[in-house]
Amino acid sequence: MLRNAGRTALKVARAYALQGDRYYCPVCDRHFRSFLPGGTSRRRQVRCPNCDSLERHRLLWLALQNLLDTDSTGKKLLHVAPEPCLANRLKQQYDYLSVDMEAANAMQQMDICQIPLPDATFDAILCNHVLEHIPNDMQALKELFRVLKPKGWASIQVPISGEQTQEDLSITDPQIRATLYGQSDHVRQYGRDFQQRLKSTGFEVDIVSKADLVNSKTLQKLSLDSEDEVWICRK
Ligand SMILES: [Zn+2]
Repeated sequence: MLRNAGRTALKVARAYALQGDRYYCPVCDRHFRSFLPGGTSRRRQVRCPNCDSLERHRLLWLALQNLLDTDSTGKKLLHVAPEPCLANRLKQQYDYLSVDMEAANAMQQMDICQIPLPDATFDAILCNHVLEHIPNDMQALKELFRVLKPKGWASIQVPISGEQTQEDLSITDPQIRATLYGQSDHVRQYGRDFQQRLKSTGFEVDIVSKADLVNSKTLQKLSLDSEDEVWICRK
């Protein structure tokens, strides 16, 4: 408890010390003279010192501004493997449920390959950087589609590299997975053909590029170098 309080105080002090006008985090709506390094290769200007957003969270938050309901009273949102910086904002606006395979990481423990809820329960779903960990990703997609209401939207982001998805589910060695798929707990490397998996589930897919969302000067302020686009699905 005390350690948590100390960490929070340190973070508040650091965010205060880094106040400025060079960078902007749209997730927490604050300006800084610098972001913190982040990512596995400790890239520069990556992490927001206040809310810990990374590039991909900031780009997604921008894209979501066109989707979030202005009046979301009573609207239900499902957040799978919740990113804390986005969760803090979304739970203020929606009838919000977060789930994860690990009970400690969310409001409810849930395997999204078997969602114990009726069809058409949610108005919106966020399930980002999850499917690359799930062997039967098509079953998870079917379940997400089932519990989304008609005309609902879903943010289903995965790491994408190249055109073709690389997948061999017989490979279970963590080191080989890390070499082939970029991380020891990833079961595949998606390519741009991920779109076909989404479409075959029934989703319509909109690919929104960062240039569609903001001008180049604002892009610099948001520090989005590692990200190019957001995929938004609709039912
Ligand atoms: Zn922030």
